[in-house]
Amino acid sequence: MVRLPASHDLDCLVRAPGFVLGNWPTPLECLDTELGPIWVKRDDLSGFGRGGVKTRKIEHLIDYVAPRGYREVITVVANITNLAHDIGPAVARAGIRSTVFAVDEPSIPAASRTEFFRGADAGVALLGTSQVLAAAHLAYAAARSSARGRRTFVALPSLSHPSALVGAARGFLEMVLQFREAGSYPEVVFITVASGATYAGFLLAERALAAAGLPPIQVIGVQVHQHRARVWIAGLMRWSKWSLGLSTPASRIELIDSALHGGFGRFSREIVDTCHDVQKRHGLRIDPIFGGKTWTVMERWLADKRPRGPVVYWHCGYTPDWESMGVLCRR
Ligand SMILES: *Cc1c(COP(=O)(O)O)cnc(C)c1O
Repeated sequence: MVRLPASHDLDCLVRAPGFVLGNWPTPLECLDTELGPIWVKRDDLSGFGRGGVKTRKIEHLIDYVAPRGYREVITVVANITNLAHDIGPAVARAGIRSTVFAVDEPSIPAASRTEFFRGADAGVALLGTSQVLAAAHLAYAAARSSARGRRTFVALPSLSHPSALVGAARGFLEMVLQFREAGSYPEVVFITVASGATYAGFLLAERALAAAGLPPIQVIGVQVHQHRARVWIAGLMRWSKWSLGLSTPASRIELIDSALHGGFGRFSREIVDTCHDVQKRHGLRIDPIFGGKTWTVMERWLADKRPRGPVVYWHCGYTPDWESMGVLCRR
């Protein structure tokens, strides 16, 4: 069996078992494309709830909160995120309550919004567009829950917490092991960046591998949200290194924002066409709010340079409601 080299940082990342919800490892498939072979890491098949890479984050967040005696998790999400549907049922399995607030961002008609969140079991409270008000609701809910004697964990948007980064990092290591078992090693990985928590976890893993003597892997993040991702990612990584005791060297944060189209949930006809094309040719379902942007950027990048080693597209999951939740921009 192929193993990872022994190192302090890799041991730290691998040690956390996680509260298992998904089916691991997810498949790693090779597609034959006009731009050469592309490896797809099928986290869309993670197999819990709406699935996707978020299952990894949730598993490790539960692994953090449950043994510490937290009885409730409170968090805030944006409109179009599968997290809203998955977090409640997931923490419930560990006997933990949850309260989820949804900010109206990107702002969409009330009817589509109600429809989207109807599927979410965990009573999601719909708020307006104000982030400040959302923070106030969060603080109030946390105070009320504590007053009732429940130890309450408040999670930042998109579960941005060191434990969630560990979940993502372990996914990255899982993919590297799959390559090594096939006698190969990835060269470039494309990953969608919404909050950036998944990307930050990948970088932690990549740096830990490099520090243990393995070749560097270029991790390219494609931004789908207009926030200051670089600052957020750097902060999350610093927080995680400190709290996990990692000695990982500094990393290069490589982000591409050319497919933003004005912000979260906004996309062009070209991206919609790319999604249809990918489905028709390869049978993969990707949506123009998240993965379609990443695929489009990856195709442009590959048209320019063709690396010698394997190129990986990380399939983070699919948002079935993209048509009613997104905004098609003319351009
Ligand atoms: C959540 C999500 C991502 C990445 O999320 P981060 O907030 O950056 O960790 C990417 N694609 C899809 C489809 C998602 O649901």
